[in-house]
Amino acid sequence: MYESWLARGAQAVLTRYVHGSVQEDERVRHGRTGGALMVLGALSGVGLLPILPARVDGSLVLLLAGGCFLLGVVIPWLPWDRWPRWALLLPVSVTLPVVFGGGGIVDDALDFYALFLPLVFIYLGLVFPLVYCVGVFAVCIVGLVLAVAVGDSAEYVPFVLLGTFLSVVAGVVLGMQRRAEAHGYDAMRALAEAATMLGAATDRREVADVVAGASHDLFAADDVEVLVLGDALEGTGEHAAVTARRGRAAWVDADDGGALGRTLEVLATLAADGTEPTAAGGSPSASDPFRLVVVIPGPSGPRGAVVVEQRRRARASDRFAIRSLDVLAREAGHVLDRIRRTEQLETSSRTDALTGVSNRAVLQEALDASTAGDVLIIMDLDHFKRINDTLGHATGDQVLVAFAGVLRGAARVNQVVARYGGEEFVTVLPGADDRAVDRHLDDVRRAWAGTNPDVTFSSGIAVRGEAEDPAATMARADQALYLAKSGGRNRDVHAAGERLDEVRTLARPAP
Ligand code: GH3
Ligand code: MG
Ligand code: MG
Repeated sequence: MYESWLARGAQAVLTRYVHGSVQEDERVRHGRTGGALMVLGALSGVGLLPILPARVDGSLVLLLAGGCFLLGVVIPWLPWDRWPRWALLLPVSVTLPVVFGGGGIVDDALDFYALFLPLVFIYLGLVFPLVYCVGVFAVCIVGLVLAVAVGDSAEYVPFVLLGTFLSVVAGVVLGMQRRAEAHGYDAMRALAEAATMLGAATDRREVADVVAGASHDLFAADDVEVLVLGDALEGTGEHAAVTARRGRAAWVDADDGGALGRTLEVLATLAADGTEPTAAGGSPSASDPFRLVVVIPGPSGPRGAVVVEQRRRARASDRFAIRSLDVLAREAGHVLDRIRRTEQLETSSRTDALTGVSNRAVLQEALDASTAGDVLIIMDLDHFKRINDTLGHATGDQVLVAFAGVLRGAARVNQVVARYGGEEFVTVLPGADDRAVDRHLDDVRRAWAGTNPDVTFSSGIAVRGEAEDPAATMARADQALYLAKSGGRNRDVHAAGERLDEVRTLARPAP
C-alpha cells in the first residue's frame, strides 16, 4: 500500500518534472529537468549532513543546499519557451560556483562538493549538444585551478579531476543515447506521417512523392529517387512509370519515358547484384558514398524501387531508417495495389464489357452535360438478327466489337462513344456543325466498309435544341433512325429541327 503510493508519487513527480508533456516546448521540458536535478542535488546534500566529516562546514552545506533547493523549485516555472536556448545554462552557471567557489574556496571540501558534478553533466548531456560537455569540462578545470590557487584544495586534485572526467563521460554517453532516440522518434514520426499520406494517395505520382519525401527525412539523404512502374509489366498494357526525386535543391519529375527506362535499369542492377527482387529488401553498400536500393514489392514482382544515395558512409542509425524504409516500401506496394484495383473498378464500371466503349451510365452523363448545338448520332446495324441466326451469336459478338472499334477510331477524345443497347451505339459530338457531322459519318462508313462490307448500318442524327431536354433530343434521333430503317436502311437521316416533319434524309450508299 505504502509502496504503491510511493511509486505513484514518484511517477507523478517524474512526469511533472522530468518528462513533461509531449506537446510542450522542448525548452520547457528541459527547464523542468534542470529544476528537478537541482532539487535532487540539494536534498542529497542535506541528506548527507548527518554523516559529514568534521572538516566540512555543515552550515555552509545547508545554506547552499537551501539556495539550490529554492532555485530548483522556481526554475521549472520560468518562461523557457520565450527565452533563447542558451538561457537553459542557468542551472549549470549556479551549480559550478557552488561546487568550486563554495566547496573549493570558501570551504576546503572540494571532494565532497564534487560529488554533485555528475548531475551537471547529466543535465548537459540531456539538454545540449555534446560539445557543451567538453566546454563545461574546460570550465571545471579552470574552477579547479582557482580552487587550488585561491583556496586550499590541492590534495583533492586527482580525486576531483577523475570525478569530473567520469561525469563528462556520463553526460556524453547519455547525450549520444538521447540523440539516437530522438533520431528514432523523428523516423517514426516521418513514417507515421508518410503512412497517413499514403492512405489518402490516389495516384502513382502521389505515392512516389510521399515515399521520396519520407525517405529523404529518414536518412537525411543527399539524394532520393523513387521509381514506380506503371502496370505494363503486370500485363495490363499501361506503359508508364513515374519517379519522384528529392535532392538537395528541389523536386525534379522525370518524364515518363525516361522514368520507365531508369526503373528497369535500377531493377536490372538489383537482379545483377543478386538481391531478391520480389521482396522488399536491400542493404547499404559499405562503400563511400553509400547507395541503398529498396524494392517496392508487387504481387507479381517488383513494382518500383527507392534509391537512396548519400555522400557519406553508412552509419549505425541508418539501420533503423532502412527497416523503416522497408516497411514504407511494403506499404507503398499495398497502396499501389489498391490504386490499381480502384482504377480497374472505375474503368469497368464505366465501360461496356463486350465492346469496350462507354456504357449507358457514361452516355447519360454525356447527355446531361451536353448543351444546345451538340449532336447525337444513334447508329444501328441493319438486319443484325440475321447474323446471329445464320453465323451464330459468337460471330455476332465479333461484329459488335468490330463496329465499336470503328466508332471509337473515328471519334475524337472529347466525343463519347457508348453502347446504347444490343446493336445500337450513340456518339455525342459536342458543338458539331453539319459539315463536321457529315465528315464524321463518312469516316465511319469508309472504315466500316473496309472492315465488314457485308453488314450495313443506319443512323439517326439530332442536334440538341435551345432549352431542349436531352431525352427529347434522343427521342428525335431515335425517330430519325426509324425513318432511316423504314426508308430502306444503310442511310443517315438527319432530324434537322425540333419537329420531325423537317426531317432531311440523306441516302448515303456505302462508299
Ligand atoms: P434492323 O435492321 O431493323 O435493326 O434489324 P435487326 O435484326 O438489326 O434488329 P432487331 O432489333 O430485330 O434485332 C437485334 C438483334 O441484336 C437481336 C439480338 O439477338 C441481337 N443482339 C443484341 N445484343 C446482342 C449481343 O450482345 N450479341 C449478339 N451476338 N447479338 C445481340
Ligand atoms: Mg439493327
Ligand atoms: Mg436495334
